[in-house]
Amino acid sequence: MDLKKRIEQFRELEYAFNKDFYQALKEGQKPHTLFIGCSDSRVDAETLFQASAGEIFQIRNVANIVPREEEPDTHPSVVSAIEYAVKVLNVENIIVCGHSNCGGCAAIRSLNEYKEKLPYTGEWIAQSVTISDYIDYSYPDMNEDDKIIMLEKLNAVQQLDNLMTYDFVRERFESGDLNLQAYYYDIGTGSISVYDYDSIFSDMIKEITLNRKRMFSKETPEETE
Ligand SMILES: [Zn+2]
Repeated sequence: MDLKKRIEQFRELEYAFNKDFYQALKEGQKPHTLFIGCSDSRVDAETLFQASAGEIFQIRNVANIVPREEEPDTHPSVVSAIEYAVKVLNVENIIVCGHSNCGGCAAIRSLNEYKEKLPYTGEWIAQSVTISDYIDYSYPDMNEDDKIIMLEKLNAVQQLDNLMTYDFVRERFESGDLNLQAYYYDIGTGSISVYDYDSIFSDMIKEITLNRKRMFSKETPEETE
């Protein structure tokens, strides 16, 4: 892959033909949407929304995860971008986008193996392990492929609940100034399912969140003097 040639093409074709647009961008950004998607190279926000530069503020990480406010490990990289998007850029929408054939979600299904092989990835995706456990417990007869698809969808919707653990998100959502939705993008077919915060999955998410709170309270030892 000749990346140098790609940037020359950007300069000579894209930039040259749209110079006014790019020069206007230097004045600042006013994105309407915060997109939280998987790092997977096939999940491209600008393509999905048919958007231009300046429209979408983005966070990409393995398995499109938003850390919960109350959990002991902090991941300020993700949260700082959410904070900036909501409090400074005043985005109208936060979209969490899960997708089919997600390597991160598949890895959650064999977490112990990943913790050894890819320790940073293992630690990161462990945030969603209660979703995987819930599926095993609730659907013992479901085949593994369907369990992974269910995990990919539930994991996307779960992140809306995780977003709501931050006061600055919840207040904006409750006042009607912020639209929160989870998408599930099926890569092969191009179809996109849309789930609201209060979706068909909300009872499941409530139960998963309860299990998660129990798990994290067990993992955090009481502090002793
Ligand atoms: Zn993925």
